[in-house]
Amino acid sequence: MALALAVSLSALAGSAQAGTTGADVCELSEGELTVTDLPSGSSVIKCDAVGRIVTYDGTGLTVPEPGTAVSVDSLSTDGTNHGFTLEVASTGIVSYDLTSASVDLSTEGSDAADVLTNPARTAGDLSQEADGTDADASDSSTGAEVADADAAGSPGACSDGTYATKDQKEYGTYNWYIGDGGLPGGLSKSDALWTFYEALDNITESSNNCGYTDQVGAHQANFLDYTSYEADINTSSQCTSRDGLSTWDAGDLKDTVVATTCAWTWPTPGVKNDLREADTRFNTHDNDFTNKPTASCSNKYDIRSVGTHEAGHIFGLKDITGAHNNLTMFGSSIECSTRARTLGKGDVLGLRSIY
Ligand SMILES: [Zn+2]
Repeated sequence: MALALAVSLSALAGSAQAGTTGADVCELSEGELTVTDLPSGSSVIKCDAVGRIVTYDGTGLTVPEPGTAVSVDSLSTDGTNHGFTLEVASTGIVSYDLTSASVDLSTEGSDAADVLTNPARTAGDLSQEADGTDADASDSSTGAEVADADAAGSPGACSDGTYATKDQKEYGTYNWYIGDGGLPGGLSKSDALWTFYEALDNITESSNNCGYTDQVGAHQANFLDYTSYEADINTSSQCTSRDGLSTWDAGDLKDTVVATTCAWTWPTPGVKNDLREADTRFNTHDNDFTNKPTASCSNKYDIRSVGTHEAGHIFGLKDITGAHNNLTMFGSSIECSTRARTLGKGDVLGLRSIY
């Protein structure tokens, strides 16, 4: 009898119902999942996958509730960049964005109008930054801050139009908090506040030395408070479940990572997904940071450069790979350089394409 039943079931499976029969069965293995374990088109409801970790290319994130997308972006010490987005539709169906920008996606020729009339930052502004209140509390940087100079071997910041964008946009105001633990570079809470503010402003004001005026309609970010909440990012640089507060803090991340940003959005078909929360953590366990890189700087990351890069992710920019070292969104190390504090052509064009 049992044999007969098995035969008839297998006959059914081979009939017109094949395919749907298989998709209805979803048993996930224990431990971390890969994007192959939970492929595009699968259901987090049938697979009971909400709360599970999915990894890809050395990064990972926690599967959110239906009606939520989450993206992870990690800035690495080794010249590589890692990140991806997992979206769970309101129906529970999973989709991914696993791409990063390795090709020039710029819109050459459409950006020549507003040049050189009113540069947002001048060399004078930068030298003013170098004195006074920016002394780093825990490092011993002395002397003049390094200049914001282009690196050789890549197009200059103002001639490289490469960018890529995420399905992510802050339609309102990014309201953010600072965590109550240690901060990069040993910054005091108040110094961290203004440093992170400047990083976020660099994005919302498209700060650049290329003469591009601020046509980016993103609202200025708004600091709300210091908090005992933490960035929802674990020591493997994986996004955990979101707590509802957008928190910037410092802590231990994967040892090859300088900083990680996790962002959660609400899928909104037809337009960019609506940002709900974005957390940034600096890896102060494995790296040193400074607010004032000098000529004698070594093995330290410029807080405002890293912060500006991470803020770019929050406002919807993706990492750029390849020979684009002078762009803020170049997904590699920003060691002893202030270059990424000011946006390049591609960074500005990418923000303009979103806002
Ligand atoms: Zn990045």
